[in-house]
Amino acid sequence: MDPTYTLAGIMGWPVRYSRSPVIHGHWIREHGVKGDYVMLPVQATNLPDALRGLKAMGFAGCNLTIPHKVAALALLDRVDPLAARIGAVNTLVVKDGALVGYNTDAEGYIQSLREACPGWRADAGPTSGPMAVLGAGGAARAVLAVLGEQGAPEIRICNRSLDKAQALAAEFGAHYPGTRWLALPWDQRHAALEGCAQLVNTTSLGMTGQEALDLRLDALPPTALVCDVIYTPLETPLLAAARLRPAGQHVTVNGLGMLLHQARAAFQHWFGLLPEVTPALRRAVEATF
Ligand code: NDP
Repeated sequence: MDPTYTLAGIMGWPVRYSRSPVIHGHWIREHGVKGDYVMLPVQATNLPDALRGLKAMGFAGCNLTIPHKVAALALLDRVDPLAARIGAVNTLVVKDGALVGYNTDAEGYIQSLREACPGWRADAGPTSGPMAVLGAGGAARAVLAVLGEQGAPEIRICNRSLDKAQALAAEFGAHYPGTRWLALPWDQRHAALEGCAQLVNTTSLGMTGQEALDLRLDALPPTALVCDVIYTPLETPLLAAARLRPAGQHVTVNGLGMLLHQARAAFQHWFGLLPEVTPALRRAVEATF
C-alpha cells in the first residue's frame, strides 16, 4: 500500500446512479490529489464484511447510501454525536484502525441554505419562525437536526405515516427541547404552512419518475424560504409553484447544494483539504442529469 495514495468511495445498493464519484473525481483532479474515489456496490447482508474490508484494503473511508445509512450505526467503533442524534451516518472514516461514522448531510443542508440566503439563521431575524418539514425519512432526519440545532422556535413535521412523524417529534424533542415539535397528519399539510418562515420537502414526491407533491401554498407567507432536498429535477413542481406564486417573493433552494456541500465535508475528512463548490463542479454534476 502506497501511504501517499488515498482511497475512498461510495458503498450502497444500487450505487451506479450516484453522483458522488463525479463530485469527488472532480476535486481529486482539480487539486492533483493522489488517490481515487470508487463505487462500492454492497448489498445489505454484506455490510458487516464490507466494512471490515475497508480497513483491510487501506481505505481512508467511504460514503454510505441506501440501504446502509442506519444499519451501519451498530457496526462502527465510534459515532460522531451529531450523527448519533440524526440516527444515520453517510460518511465513514478509518482513524487509527477504528471506523468512525459522521453525518455530513446536515452540514450540506445548512450550507445550501446559507448559499441561497446569506446570513440565514433559525433562531432570530427574518428567516426565523415556524418551519414546516414534509416527510419523516432519512433526509428529514438531517434537516430536522439542522433546524433543531440552529434553534428553530417551532418545527411542524407532516408525514403520510403519522406514527413516523410522531416518533421523530418525540426523538428530536428530547435532543432539542428549546424547539416546539409538532407532528401533523398528511391531510393537514396545506394548513401547516400558516405563518411558516421555511418549508422543506424531504419526501420523494416531485422526484423524476414520481408523482408531484400535492400541496396548496395559499397559507404560506410570501417571504418564506421554500426548499426541496430533491435534485432530480433541479426545479421540482413545488419550487416552480413557489417561484410562480403571484404574491411570492420566495427564495427557493433545490437539493443540489445539499448534495455538493455534504460531499465537501466528506472530502475533507479523507483527503485533508476542504474543496470549493464551484460553477465548474455544478456544471459537471448537472451534465449527468
Ligand atoms: P425515505 O424513503 O427515507 O423517505 C421517504 C419519505 O417520502 C417518507 O417520509 C415517505 O412517507 C414519503 N413519501 C414517499 N412516497 C410518498 C407518497 N406517495 N405520499 C406521501 N409521502 C410519501 O427517503 P429519503 O429520506 O432517503 O429521501 C427522500 C428524498 O430526498 C429523495 O428524493 C432523495 O433523493 C432526497 N435526498 C436528497 C439528498 C441531498 O443531498 N440533496 C440527501 C438524501 C436524500 P412515509 O413515511 O409515509 O413512507
